[in-house]
Parts: sequence; structure tokens; C-alpha cells
Amino acid sequence: MTTITEQKSSATSLLQSAQATMKNATNKLGYPDEMFALLKEPVRMMTVRIPVRMDNGRTQVFTGFRAQHNDAVGPTKGGVRFHPSVSEEEVKSLSLWMSLKCGINNLPYGGGKGGVICDPRQMSFAELERLSRGYVRMISQIVGPTKDIPAPDVYTNSQIMAWMMDEYSRIKEFDSPGFITGKPVVLGGSQGRETATARGVLICIEEAVNVLNKKLEDARVIIQGFGNAGSFIAKFLYDKGAQVVGISDVLGALYDPDGLDISTLNERRDSFGMVTNQFKNTITNEELMEKECDILIPAAIANQITERNAGRIKAKIVVEAANGPTTSKATKILTDNNILLIPDLLASSGGVIVSYFEWVQNNQGYYWSEEEVDHKLHTKMVHSFHKVYETASRYKSDMRTAAYIAGTRKMAEASRFRGWI
Ligand code: GLU
Repeated sequence: MTTITEQKSSATSLLQSAQATMKNATNKLGYPDEMFALLKEPVRMMTVRIPVRMDNGRTQVFTGFRAQHNDAVGPTKGGVRFHPSVSEEEVKSLSLWMSLKCGINNLPYGGGKGGVICDPRQMSFAELERLSRGYVRMISQIVGPTKDIPAPDVYTNSQIMAWMMDEYSRIKEFDSPGFITGKPVVLGGSQGRETATARGVLICIEEAVNVLNKKLEDARVIIQGFGNAGSFIAKFLYDKGAQVVGISDVLGALYDPDGLDISTLNERRDSFGMVTNQFKNTITNEELMEKECDILIPAAIANQITERNAGRIKAKIVVEAANGPTTSKATKILTDNNILLIPDLLASSGGVIVSYFEWVQNNQGYYWSEEEVDHKLHTKMVHSFHKVYETASRYKSDMRTAAYIAGTRKMAEASRFRGWI
């Protein structure tokens, strides 16, 4: 386990490595240095202090952030995370990545991101509600359906989105479902939003397996993280006939070369994705990453594949369902070892794609069936996968740099047309 201090310093290096890759991408696209100067940091960054009355009657003051990376293409878009390791640097990096995710998938948005430093696992339901509402009160001037549209991220969910939407609607005195996405379906949420990130990962895997002339049914898969993304990815792969040989949560990992029973594990997980504590014979997360498999899916937090373990990874395909799980040094090691890396900017973009569909449905007041949503998601993801794959071969770059190139183009062009550069 990494300490919070370690996670904080890794957030700084997260931003530095995002900036280094962004510099490379703007150079390859032939933009002047001014373009990099604009895109290397969010155009707007807000820090807020949120007083929350705790159940014991005392007030605790939380720190939160909202970053808006670039709004040349349209309003900014991106999740809000509630986690003890949230930092300004991390939120900045994540907002930059959201711009790129939106660019790769040709969504009419720039990137945004929010976060609150807190540990929801230690908080009651009522405290979480007061924190969620307090956060919205503090950022309400800079967000809105045509300004900046939040969504779920690590340790936030549809209930939290519902409280935030209610608070925003009360402040503005009109019903604003388009202010936030990832809401419960009865409040204007989209069919298929909850499973969207996992579906997007699955679509990327299907395309990757195809380009490598392999079969999904023959694949042995390890998934690190059993939260919203990881648990659904496990279910979808299991239903498709792949063999899920390893899964993990923050406490430990389970590995069985003959395949795990995913339906039982899904039934027994709690809402934070905890399941391994109910089993004996667990191994560590670090051990799991190096086990024999064909596809490795980091679906938890950042910096899980580093120069320390990258050389020992046995998978042929690494699919980043989490944001930032592989460091840049590790990206080079994996690429040199001929492992196909499907970067987070592409693999984890199913969530924001269906968030976009949710916002479109809110704006038009007309709602689509789950089949329609899944079909539209499939079309977009397949297109985006091949866009990044072809960019990598055209620019002779690794897949991550290719994702940056593909993701930067639209925002850079929009910034230029607006006369900013
Ligand atoms: N938090 C998700 C992400 O990092 C979804 C963002 C959204 O739906 O706006 O992509």
C-alpha cells in the first residue's frame, strides 16, 4: 500500500508526465509552443472549503477542487472524486485527461474534474449528503448545463449525483437535470450509464483481440480493482466466455488459474467493491499484477504499473480501465516488450460517452432505450479505438502518445479558430 504522502507526490509526477506527453503531442501535430503553454494547465481552477456538520454535532471543514481544463470546444465535463488522496495536482491532471478523452471521442466538450479530500468509507450517509450539497454550493457559480457538467468518479455514485442535482436545482430555482450526469434513471439518468465504462473497456478488448488475431474465449484475464468498473468488466468478460483468473480490491487479490466464479464474487462484494476479505488464500495486489494471463486490466487507481514491475508483466494486452495506472517509464517498458497498451484516455472513455448521451437526452427531454444507448456507445468506441490505433502507426508512436495526439487535435483547432493562439 502507498501512503498518502507518496500518493501526493505521485500526483505531481502525474501532472508532469501528462505535460511531457502533451508537449510531445503538440510538437508532433506541428503546433507552436504557445499551444502547449495554453494546454499544459487548466484555464480555470477553483479551491473551496466546505464546512460540514458531522453526526457528532461538530463541524469539519473539507477542501475541494474544480478544474476546467479547456473550454474552446464547449462546456467542460468530468467527474468528481471523493478520496483521501485527492490533491490540486491530481485534479488538474485529471481535467487535462478529460479534455483528451472528449477529443478522442469527438464529444462537444472540454475537460473538467473535481475532487474533495475526504474518506467516504468513514462517513455516514447523512454526512455524505451534507458534503455533496456543500460542495455544490461552493462551486455553483462556475458549473451548469452549458458551463461545466460534473459526473461520478472514484467513490461517488448516482445517489451523490442526485443530491448534487437537487442542490443545484434549488440554488438556481429551476429543474436542471443537465447540470450533472450519472444520475439515477428516475431523475433523468441514462439507461446504460452505470455499466458504460465497463462496456467501453469490453469493446476496446474485443477490437484489440481482433487486431491481434486472437479470440476472446481463449483469453485469461486479470482485473485489478472490483469497484463499479472492475466488477462489471469481470461480469461482461465472464458472460462472453473469457476466463477471469484474477481480481482484487484494496485489501488483497484472488487468483485461480482455472478461473474464478465471477457471479458469486459479484453477489458478495459491498458497495465499495470489497470482497477479498471474505476469502482465505488471498495474495497481494502487487503479486496479482505479475501472474500469468493474456489480458491485464488495471481498474483501480493511478500508478499501479511502474518501472519496478512493468518488466515482469506477462499479459499480451494491458487495458487501462482506471485513470493513470501506468507511469510513462512503464509505458515504454510495456511497448518495448511488444505488449499492446490500450491507454486510459481511450479504454475508460465509455463513461463520459454515455454521460454525453445522458446530457443530450436531458437537453431534448426525450429518452432512449438501453439498446439504443449501447449501440451508439459501440459505434463511437469502435471508431475511437481505430482512430488511436491508426494514429500510433501513422506517427510511429506508442498508443498513449497516439491517444494524446488524437485527443489534442480538436481542442487545439477550436482554440485557434477562437483566436486564442
Ligand atoms: N469520471 C469519469 C471519467 O473519468 C466520467 C466522467 C463523465 O462522465 O463526465 O471519465
